[in-house]
Amino acid sequence: ESEAARAAASKDNLRSPICCILGHVDTGKTKLLDKIRQTNVQEGEAGGITQQIGATYFPVEALQKKTAVVNQDGAFEMKVPGLLIIDTPGHESFTNLRTRGSSLCNIAILVVDIMHGLEPQTLESMRLLRDRKTPFIVALNKIDRLYGWKQVANNGFRESLALQNKGVQNEFRDRLEKTKLAFAEQSFNSELYYENKSMAKFVSLVPTSAHTGEGIPDMLKLLLQLTQERMTNQLMYLSEVECTVLEVKVIEGLGTTIDVVLSNGVLNEGDTVVLCGTEGPITTQIRALLTPAEMKELRLKSQYVHNKTVKAALGIKIAANGLDHAIAGSRLLVVKDPDDEDEIEELEEDVMGDLENLMSKISKSGRGVTVQASTLGSLEALLEFLRVSKIPVANISIGPVHKRDVITASTMLEKAKEYAVMLCFDVKVDKDAQELAAQMGVKIFTAEIIYHLFDDFTKHMAQLAQQRKEESKMLAVFPCVLRPVAVFNKTDPIVVGVDVIDGNLRLNTPIACVKQNSSGAKEIIPMGRVTSIERDHKQIPICKKGQPSVAVKIEGPNQPLYGRHLEEKDMLYSQVSRASIDTLKEFYRDEVDKDEWALIAKHLKGMFDVV
Ligand code: GDP
Repeated sequence: ESEAARAAASKDNLRSPICCILGHVDTGKTKLLDKIRQTNVQEGEAGGITQQIGATYFPVEALQKKTAVVNQDGAFEMKVPGLLIIDTPGHESFTNLRTRGSSLCNIAILVVDIMHGLEPQTLESMRLLRDRKTPFIVALNKIDRLYGWKQVANNGFRESLALQNKGVQNEFRDRLEKTKLAFAEQSFNSELYYENKSMAKFVSLVPTSAHTGEGIPDMLKLLLQLTQERMTNQLMYLSEVECTVLEVKVIEGLGTTIDVVLSNGVLNEGDTVVLCGTEGPITTQIRALLTPAEMKELRLKSQYVHNKTVKAALGIKIAANGLDHAIAGSRLLVVKDPDDEDEIEELEEDVMGDLENLMSKISKSGRGVTVQASTLGSLEALLEFLRVSKIPVANISIGPVHKRDVITASTMLEKAKEYAVMLCFDVKVDKDAQELAAQMGVKIFTAEIIYHLFDDFTKHMAQLAQQRKEESKMLAVFPCVLRPVAVFNKTDPIVVGVDVIDGNLRLNTPIACVKQNSSGAKEIIPMGRVTSIERDHKQIPICKKGQPSVAVKIEGPNQPLYGRHLEEKDMLYSQVSRASIDTLKEFYRDEVDKDEWALIAKHLKGMFDVV
């Protein structure tokens, strides 16, 4: 058993709460974690802080040391055995993961840059936290950047603030109030943490600096306080296994492994476990439970330590056969009796239910975009967002985008071209896939923020509509009826003076004359398209019903001849067709008024035998 595993296992049967750090890029999430991890050499700080797989574990002793400056009378009692902070890149998507209905993360730190306020990813994180009902505190980071800030390394915030001159204090208050206002706009009430009377009603804001370490003792204490206040009953006792797959990774010498967070219970080497896979349920036996080797062990042959048994809360790597198609975000269930096939089947059904539930949200028509996300949790969030945004989804997938995913998406090129689009959230797109997509005409949009995908898709649809409108220009036929008043040129091109007696005459309109031939049958004589409309020697784009006469030039192949095929008294009409009516309906609905629709329906449709 490694030191990591021992350190992580709790003294009593209490288990450690799990914490996520979220926030916009560059707010200082990584730096904050580094700063908390950092051992203070001068004070000979107790270690016990262990780097795990995808997480860092802070035992209560280390937390006590780190919060000592803000707990000098020792009045604050720590009841939890420690704290597990998830530090995998892209951990936003893990906030959305659930173990048996409750969030994987018990608690979260939302990092906000005090100089920048709320940024797009901050807002998205807030939505996640709200949806998951995850209690959180806000680290208002980078206070050392307030102009003129005098630092005292690793100091409590209140003591540090008291040392600042009036100007700095004023700037701080000013930015604090702005932040509170911004939170209020998002329907969150917030308070500076030591002015907060109710953690249930107000989000606590704790100013920090990841550079100077100021405010970090306050932040840790607050985090524990919130945990203990809000969740003791729900948290703490080790019982049933709760375990979630964070990442699926191929490791040389180990094959495909899964990095998991064990939030509750105990796992043993040799346990039979069940998880969700893209090709169906995976039932396999744990071959190795791995934690990272510590610095002093690194010279040994492996970078991992094998554990016989591990206890929550813990980040750990599992090696086993058959993990190739495992899905990130899947729950991992332990089989009690590996010989009981009924039990295994039941667990398999249970675990696959999460994916099937998402599959059921796919568009029944088979028309829609292709969606790809990093984990079950983030896929669920994305699908929910697309449902609300009324964007239909035809295919879903989890993990990096490969060629075969592009091929799946490309089936839309035939069915519904506008949906030959992949919306990819928090996943990599491999180069082959990218090239293939470009070649086939499949659009790939990637984003770290869900609603950016919506913006991209909306823009894409608007562009397509514009393009189709351009393409449809020659197909659109606006209705009009013309009465010739003079013939200026009999043919090639035909030039006639006309009054518009119904509808509006526009450029490009195809014109026809309709006559009865000698045997009484209707004869349609196409004349060509309007290429110029002139009044008083000036070109105009449109002549409306009742306006003064205009001279109209009509050009086209095989034009009829005035005097032979038609006469000046013959009325002229815009030549509508099924396609032209459909085009007007699709792209020009706003530009056609009631009278014009009536003219088409009552008069022109029948005249040109449009059904
Ligand atoms: P992340 O993207 O949220 O993980 O942000 P990082 O931790 O990578 O920090 C982004 C940048 O901000 C880096 O250049 C950090 O050095 C800087 N930074 C982070 N925290 C602080 C802070 O408290 N004060 C100052 N002055 N800079 C900070």
